[in-house]
Order: sequence, then C-alpha cells, then structure tokens
Amino acid sequence: MKDEKQIKKCCKCKQYKILDQFSKNRTKKSGLNNYCRKCSKEYRILNKEKLQIYTKEYTNPNQLFKKKDTREKEKETTQKTT
Ligand SMILES: [Zn+2]
Repeated sequence: MKDEKQIKKCCKCKQYKILDQFSKNRTKKSGLNNYCRKCSKEYRILNKEKLQIYTKEYTNPNQLFKKKDTREKEKETTQKTT
C-alpha cells in the first residue's frame, strides 16, 4: 500500500498540495481553507493594503464631519444663548 498523503486543490493557484499546506478554517465544510498557506498569505497582504486604503478614505471625511458637526452644534448653542 502506498503511503499517500491527502491532497487538496488550492482555489487560487489551482495546484494540488498536501493538506499540511492548508491552514485550518472551521467555517469551511472541509475544515480547511480553500486557499493554500502561500495564497492565503498573499491574499491577506493584498487585503491589508486594500483595508488600509479603505480606512484612509473613510476615516478622514468622518473626522472632518465630526469636527464640523461639533462646531455647528457649538454655534447653535451659542446662537441660542445669545
Ligand atoms: Zn495556492
């Protein structure tokens, strides 16, 4: 009998790799990620960059809005008191 290791196809690089090359993922039926470790690492790096751009785009206007909002509220209160 051959002592074959179980293999799984990576959804990203389309290569068959031994299960050791896939990190565990409880949310998946197989219990393993669909991407191999190498691909998931690359994916994470790409996502990190995307997320950084995403947060940059969204935090800045938000901060500006908050500042504007408080200023307007201050104006309102001062106008009311005077
Ligand atoms: Zn892969």
